[in-house]
Parts: sequence; C-alpha cells; structure tokens
Amino acid sequence: MSTGFKGKFHRQNILSRFAKDLVRRSRSRCELCEKSGVKLDVYELLPLEENPYVDGCIFICEGCRKQIEKPKKMIPSNWRCLNNALYSEVPAVQVMSFRMLRRLAARNEHWANELLEHAYLDPELEEWADLAE
Ligand SMILES: [Zn+2]
Repeated sequence: MSTGFKGKFHRQNILSRFAKDLVRRSRSRCELCEKSGVKLDVYELLPLEENPYVDGCIFICEGCRKQIEKPKKMIPSNWRCLNNALYSEVPAVQVMSFRMLRRLAARNEHWANELLEHAYLDPELEEWADLAE
C-alpha cells in the first residue's frame, strides 16, 4: 500500500531530493506569492502520480500551502499574486494558479473571474487543472 507509513516516508524522501532543483527553478522565492527569505517546501499537485516527479511539484511558502490545503482559511487578498504566477514559465505553477483562481472566482471574487476570463492555458494544462480543485 503506497498510502502506508512506509510509502509516505519513501515519497517524502524522494520529494526532499527535488528541493535542490526547485531552489534553482524558483530562485528561492515562493513560486506563487514570490516571497523570499521564507522557508519554502515542495508541494505536489493533486492527483498524485504513482511516482513523484519534479515537474509535478511547486516550491511554495507555508502561508500559500496552508491556504491551498484549507480552502476555508483562504484570504482572497493574499492571492493577487496569481496575476503573475498564472504566467509563470513553470507548467505546474500555471496549473496551481488556475485552480486557485477558480476557487476565488467561486467565492465571487470578481478580479479572479476577470483574470480567468483573460487567461490562456495550454489545452493539456487545462486538462491537468481539471483533475483536481
Ligand atoms: Zn507563497
């Protein structure tokens, strides 16, 4: 069972090996809110693939991660950064930004709606975005 303790531990081990590449890719700034000088962690986009891979991960600060994992705690004004993140060169960052904008738009955040309306996502990335909330 890959969800057992051993499986989870093994996965985190693999993820921690991605950190070096992700530090370089992100230039040590949160890939969503661009904060620097904060602790950044590897976050895997859902749904999880059988084997973790670096392009399926983003490197983000704790503030962003908490709001991703606990949508009820989302503070809409914290997410204006998505305006930039949506146009990241990193596909996983685009996909996560798209998902967060959808959540915000669902809460009647008009600016998020407007961004979504003007956003262009490659069809295959849109398919990826559709796989989770
Ligand atoms: Zn952040």
